[in-house]
Amino acid sequence: MTDAASSAVPRGVPLTELVAWLDRFLNTDAYKDWSNNGLQLEGNTVVTRVAASVDVSLQSIEQAIEGGAQLLIAHHGLYWNKPQMITGPHRRRVQAALDGGLSIYASHLPLDAHPEVGNNAMIANALSLQDVQPFAGIGVQGELPFSQTLQEFAERVQKLTGEICLVHGGGGGSGVHRLGIVSGGGAEFIAEAARLGLDTLLTGEPEHKHFHDAFEYGVNAVYAGHYETEVFGVRALAARLEEQFGLPWQFLHLPTGL
Ligand SMILES: [Zn+2]
Repeated sequence: MTDAASSAVPRGVPLTELVAWLDRFLNTDAYKDWSNNGLQLEGNTVVTRVAASVDVSLQSIEQAIEGGAQLLIAHHGLYWNKPQMITGPHRRRVQAALDGGLSIYASHLPLDAHPEVGNNAMIANALSLQDVQPFAGIGVQGELPFSQTLQEFAERVQKLTGEICLVHGGGGGSGVHRLGIVSGGGAEFIAEAARLGLDTLLTGEPEHKHFHDAFEYGVNAVYAGHYETEVFGVRALAARLEEQFGLPWQFLHLPTGL
């Protein structure tokens, strides 16, 4: 903001307006998802500040409220699938949010798959992936502009996330050129990557039952962390919201190490 008067008094935006914009922008209704995407908890009716986090937890709720936010945007929301009894830790989260006037908006698969602010599109962009096409539902596939050894590629990913990758060299020294990306838990797509002729799958979280797949299908698997591959979407979405509505925002970095 450049106008001193308008920066002194934060301009509030009605929550209903923000939610309608988010639902439309993210195409929320188009996804069959078990994560109850959309506004999960209604707090203050006017929003002057936004917080973004990968996960909803008591910690992210408390930090959002301390930071002065009335809306928390998260990739993993308050509850999944069926309604959940409001007891124990779930009650403490709900109560903390309601007491602090904090609304919670969750976006899971829509925010993995979004072509502009999605986790996968953002990672592909950061790695200069070319000829980007859909992969494995929410992911993307494409070609790196140049071939890299698996180690060079892993180092690039580590620079991007700031965390060490787990690397399974199933490609047998083939290097990295044709890449599939699935943010979060995508180890199950090694076979799909092989079927499409990709040499490498970049995903978040390893899964024991898919360990041998990488070596038997001949695909490199690079695991960069579930959390670390899913910081991109909520940050980009909050930045997009600022562009649209002029709302200041803050990313709450609460890594899980997973
Ligand atoms: Zn996830």
